[in-house]
Amino acid sequence: MDKNYNPYATAQAQFDKVAAMLNLDQGTRDLLRNPLREYHFSIPIRTDKGEFKVFRGFRVQHNDARGPAKGGIRFHPQETVDTIRALSMWMTWKCAVVDIPLGGGKGGVICDPQNLSMREQELICRGWVRQLARNIGPLSDVPAPDVMTNSQHMLWMLDEYEAIHGAKFPGLITGKPVGMGGSLGRKEATGYGLVYTLREALKQKGIRPEETTASIQGFGNVAQYAVELYTRLGGKVIAVSCWDNDDKKSYTFKKFQGITLDELMPITNKYGTIDKVKAQGLGYEILPGDAWIEQEVDILMPCALENQVNGDNANKISKRVKIIAEGANGPTTLEADEVIKNRGIFMIPDFLANAGGVTCSYFEQVQCNMNYYWDKEEVLTKLDTKMTSAFLAVSELARQRNLYMRDAAYVISIDRVATACKSRGWV
Ligand code: GLU
Repeated sequence: MDKNYNPYATAQAQFDKVAAMLNLDQGTRDLLRNPLREYHFSIPIRTDKGEFKVFRGFRVQHNDARGPAKGGIRFHPQETVDTIRALSMWMTWKCAVVDIPLGGGKGGVICDPQNLSMREQELICRGWVRQLARNIGPLSDVPAPDVMTNSQHMLWMLDEYEAIHGAKFPGLITGKPVGMGGSLGRKEATGYGLVYTLREALKQKGIRPEETTASIQGFGNVAQYAVELYTRLGGKVIAVSCWDNDDKKSYTFKKFQGITLDELMPITNKYGTIDKVKAQGLGYEILPGDAWIEQEVDILMPCALENQVNGDNANKISKRVKIIAEGANGPTTLEADEVIKNRGIFMIPDFLANAGGVTCSYFEQVQCNMNYYWDKEEVLTKLDTKMTSAFLAVSELARQRNLYMRDAAYVISIDRVATACKSRGWV
């Protein structure tokens, strides 16, 4: 990651541009371009070697005018508070664009789970909750999994919260294991949601998925399920890239006939790293990490981290690319966004394209509140309906007002959140 890149500056610049288009008053702009609340704290743990080690943790609540703050917790060695600020702001827009009654928040810990034992990770999870036990809750701020956190982390966090408060609060956190208050379909939700929006975009362009190829950055939870559904629709993924923690760099795995999950999943670890030697044995070409973006495909899906499509590589996007569907949060910098817009590539922006995860989290909360759980098909059908109608509303506005898709999505979200703040009398 480029150390000088600041996603918060990007999030604020995107907001400022649309706030001006909407003629928002200064008070609303001041309120929405910054988070409402932030918590910064230390998490001391005793490591397996018996030493004390202190980790930095954060929770940022950007806005809760439309409902409790909602958003994941990331574990990442290069985590910064500005990244979390940006991500919390994007969560506010994400919940608003799919019209679910939730606000935006995000949390994180500066740590590398790939170098921590399960016990050490459990202590970090419990420490994170101990620091925030009075500032989060089912009716105020509801965390979820994100980069390098999963359902096990969520359950440890829930358990600590319930121990502190002395009762059961399954609505505290989402992305819990199925059978422990989790929803069926939550694992698949972000990747599937991404492909539901892609399917609609292809339909509007009159392109059959069977005639398309794609290249994907990342091979974690989002990318894996996106590959699965896109392939089932008939599309062909010819390249995926992933990070290799041993080499501290990433690689692109290419197979012109199309990659398959059946081949790759057995040789992929839980952080989405594919074994290079075994992949080569299966006929995969191993290219540098950024080669994913140069592939001659119809669709690009950045599904890793922020700042991946930037001024240095946006001009390498092949002429054949028609659609970019952003599975990651904030993968495209302002500079690259201009290039993409000027080239007329159809953009399905992150906070719309990857809203499937939080939409399913909302369904998880609903099921927890009823204490009655839907079957997987019911969850996924409801998810498809929500994602499709959000996509259609954004693309319709983009068409009517001749807007770039990202700007159209922002117009809908900012307008909804600003209206909520105004009607509450906040501004
Ligand atoms: N971490 C996911 C996101 O960025 C999901 C958040 C949630 O479920 O609250 O959208």
